Amino acid sequence: MIYPVVAYGDPVLRKVAKDIPQDYPKLKEIIENMWETMYGASGVGLAAPQVGMPLRLFVIDATPFADDEELTEEEINQLTGFKKVFINAQIEEENGDEWAFNEGCLSIPNVREDVFRPEEVTISYLDENFNKHTETYTGLAARVIQHEYDHIEGILFTDKLSSLKKRLIKGKLANISKGKVRVDYRMRFPELKGRR
Ligand SMILES: [Zn+2]
Repeated sequence: MIYPVVAYGDPVLRKVAKDIPQDYPKLKEIIENMWETMYGASGVGLAAPQVGMPLRLFVIDATPFADDEELTEEEINQLTGFKKVFINAQIEEENGDEWAFNEGCLSIPNVREDVFRPEEVTISYLDENFNKHTETYTGLAARVIQHEYDHIEGILFTDKLSSLKKRLIKGKLANISKGKVRVDYRMRFPELKGRR
């Protein structure tokens, strides 16, 4: 089942999400639906708050990035077959120089901006079978993890922009909350009155 993606302005995107117990009802189904929702919207990552659930859960399939010819061999290796479920994730460390990448977000359609983040991240998390992993990622793989991790901390990429940039996109963001945006996947808008 495809969930509607919650749009910018919904309070659920601002919550620090809660840990998930192993016996959480219908977790398998929720994860399945999140994959379906993400692929349906051509995303590379999706966090549970984006489908209205304030849970520490996100899914990533970064394989589309592996086609980029400008990547290093190490990056291609990290991205090829990178399809993972992250439950109760905690970032342990971030290292390296900050670099800019043009980010977008399924909750903030048609807005893309350069965001600076450290190049390396070490994260611990449980997979869908509740096995614990601690792994270090660099480059684009790290980037997607950092973006999705921010969602479970109630942070959006637009928070990381300069105050000038924030002012420039303020009107766009307000319109997104009201549903005044063209988007080709199902969404739920916090300030849209009436039907949908
Ligand atoms: Zn996002």
